[in-house]
Amino acid sequence: MLRRVALVLLLAPFGTGIGRQAPPPADLVLRDAKILTVDERFSEARALAVRDGRFVAVGTNEEMRAYVGSTTRVLQGHGRTVIPGLIDTHVHALGVAATEAEQPFRNLRSIAELQEWIRTDASRRPPESWIWTPRVYPTRLRERRFPTRKELDAAAPQHPVAVDGAYALSLNTAALRAAGITRDSTDPPGGAIVKDGAGEPTGLLRNVGALLARFHTEASAVPPLDILQRVHEQYVATGITSVIERAATVEGYRAYEALKRGDRLKVRATVTIRIPRPDDSAEVERFVSGLPFRFGSGDDWLKVGPLKIFTDGGILIGTAFMREPYGPGAHQLYAVDDPRYRGFLTLTPAQIASAILIGHTHGWQMVAHVTGDAGVDVVLDAFEAAQKAQPAPDRRHTLIHAYFVHPETAARAARLGVLVDTQPAWYYKDADALATGLGPERLAHFIGLRTLRQAGVDVAINTDHMFGLDRDQALNPFNPFLTIYAATTRRTESGQVIGGDEAVSRQEALRMMTSVAARFSFDEKTRGSIEPGKLADFVVLDEDILTCSPDRLRGIRPEITVVGGRVAFDRSTAK
Ligand SMILES: [Zn+2]
Repeated sequence: MLRRVALVLLLAPFGTGIGRQAPPPADLVLRDAKILTVDERFSEARALAVRDGRFVAVGTNEEMRAYVGSTTRVLQGHGRTVIPGLIDTHVHALGVAATEAEQPFRNLRSIAELQEWIRTDASRRPPESWIWTPRVYPTRLRERRFPTRKELDAAAPQHPVAVDGAYALSLNTAALRAAGITRDSTDPPGGAIVKDGAGEPTGLLRNVGALLARFHTEASAVPPLDILQRVHEQYVATGITSVIERAATVEGYRAYEALKRGDRLKVRATVTIRIPRPDDSAEVERFVSGLPFRFGSGDDWLKVGPLKIFTDGGILIGTAFMREPYGPGAHQLYAVDDPRYRGFLTLTPAQIASAILIGHTHGWQMVAHVTGDAGVDVVLDAFEAAQKAQPAPDRRHTLIHAYFVHPETAARAARLGVLVDTQPAWYYKDADALATGLGPERLAHFIGLRTLRQAGVDVAINTDHMFGLDRDQALNPFNPFLTIYAATTRRTESGQVIGGDEAVSRQEALRMMTSVAARFSFDEKTRGSIEPGKLADFVVLDEDILTCSPDRLRGIRPEITVVGGRVAFDRSTAK
């Protein structure tokens, strides 16, 4: 009896009984919707109320009536599905904006399109001026190989041409000549100048960025703010309300600060800072101790995220560091001839361990770009050693990409409390080509979400958006519903299923872009689900994400996106 009285007293101010005080009116009430709260039990609700940028109530239409006052904006959901604002834990909006400012991205899908682009660019430049193409990956070209030197010569016989494949470049003859690369050139440290049977450079260079830096005016680290804002507006229009910027400089963080100061920051952002010289411990120590901010400083709109290092190359261009040799299929796809070739680390294991230990000791969450499975082994060694040297529970060090998943590595990551940030749209775009290059067995667990989840690893699925402003034509596509489609159907762009066991449910995929994704920036208490007290970020969809046909899934579009209780995108009024 006593206990019951106490309970009633406790509940009195919030209860639903007669005679209770009406709550203060909400700023915004959404009614008649199918709200997927993505709370612990994945419960559904009909209506929600928002005040001061946060959810204050989630429940039935009836329950929300009490929150409607004379100034409350009431949105009708018309039975539509509502999800928490999506969190893309891996974007390069700064880079997107910087390159858009100089040369708007074009998605080149074949060598003929690439040649055409080069011809047009050449017609606008003096012959000595270098041509740098938009980013092109062999896995995404119809021919599924790098362009040859001859093909590039045919498009531009006079101009030096470099085809940008990130960690690999294809050069034409004029570019080799201008760069002074000959049959006598030796490989730079950690990189390779590929040569043919006669010892002549083929034009393909792996991981030699520094060798050509003087011919390339890098897009500035700080883009025009209006273009950065435009990138963020594209995110909001596709349902993304929080991002983690995945490799910024301190100046990049300042650009975000400037947007926020001008009240122009449209998405919540956590900014990852890239360590510039991870190969030199003294430089790492100096860089980390000289940073003008601490890990996690900031607020609900902008904060300082982890420190990042790059430890290997990419699987789209055949430089990921693998446990097993790439094999015979790699000849066609990557122009690899050595049967023992396994890709390579771009830092030594000692350098990786040292950079991670230094950041860890200074209190930072550490994240490492690592695509190959042998690379993952080395990075996990480094995370484990850092934790042993200075135990710090719940630091959430993170593997970025980690594409080739094995049950025992997943178990090890889970045991170490290590998270995985990975990109199902790459499976969609690249798995067909990769299966011919690396064999279907290896692709069966490529981006193995189910294996990771079964081991208990926190996985965030995201897009690694790098270039372009169109959600489906960008590189990489930043359409989050394409990501969810790939994660749940395990279908490639051609419709093939490779390793169907690795598909996850729609609920799980949604968690990987909301409640679980929030953990990557330590924000699970304030975002990632629709629950009272959390930030009022949500999206009204034009389809039911749980029940629509798989083919409709990747075409889902937001009707309305709300960030912090404010309508940030409304399809009915958008241009
Ligand atoms: Zn990235």
